[in-house]
Amino acid sequence: MEQVKKITVYIMGKAYKVPADQTIMGALEYAGYQLVRGVGCREGFCGSCATIYRKPGDYKFHMAPACSTLVEDQMYLSQIPFVPTDKPVYNIEKLEPDYTAFEKVFPETFRCVACNTCTKACPQDLEVMDYIQAIIKNNISECADLSFDCIACGLCAIRCPAEMVQHNIGLLSRRLYGKYLNPRGKNLKNRLQEIKEGKYEQEIRQMMTMDKDNLVKTYHGRDIEPDYRDVGAD
Ligand code: SF4
Ligand code: SF4
Repeated sequence: MEQVKKITVYIMGKAYKVPADQTIMGALEYAGYQLVRGVGCREGFCGSCATIYRKPGDYKFHMAPACSTLVEDQMYLSQIPFVPTDKPVYNIEKLEPDYTAFEKVFPETFRCVACNTCTKACPQDLEVMDYIQAIIKNNISECADLSFDCIACGLCAIRCPAEMVQHNIGLLSRRLYGKYLNPRGKNLKNRLQEIKEGKYEQEIRQMMTMDKDNLVKTYHGRDIEPDYRDVGAD
């Protein structure tokens, strides 16, 4: 039987031999830790498992999602408690899609000292400082675009000297963009009108009688709606 290569990692200072092909999360569980917080999708999307670690002889503090980062020999692991995030309640109907929304909801945004610590902390390689600075420059669309792949792990927030929660700030920019700034596609408006007028009634009723195989075949054979950017927007 093929021998599984093992390496040594230190969890809370104690040495453990774990398989070399494990993620940090896998190694913690292999070592006997039952994770009940700081675990979510296990696929690198939900941002729940923010982890910090050190490597021997390396001054740097490394940060990563535990579920999608492989262990390394002699890694020092230490779990951190959840990232406290200030989640103010706001009514988007009462906000303008510009910097004033952030003045009201996240005034700390304007304390950014442009140190770039957040960008260096981001496991998604996002330009975090740039998306915060985009708001200060009143460019909400740019913030929404640059923060789009944020998984809300909070690793930027725990390093920020201005004590802001960047991922919630980015989220507000995307909400404002979606509600006020994103051009509406003509196709959606037209299609909703067609549905209202009962154009698809017969087709829908017919689909309701189909078995799974026919439904799958019909789904794959459907006309794909053209991208609204190719047909113009309102
Ligand atoms: S921007 Fe911040 S919260 Fe979002 S993925 Fe990067 S480090 Fe995590
Ligand atoms: S860590 Fe905070 S203060 Fe520094 S650039 Fe990022 S948002 Fe600005």
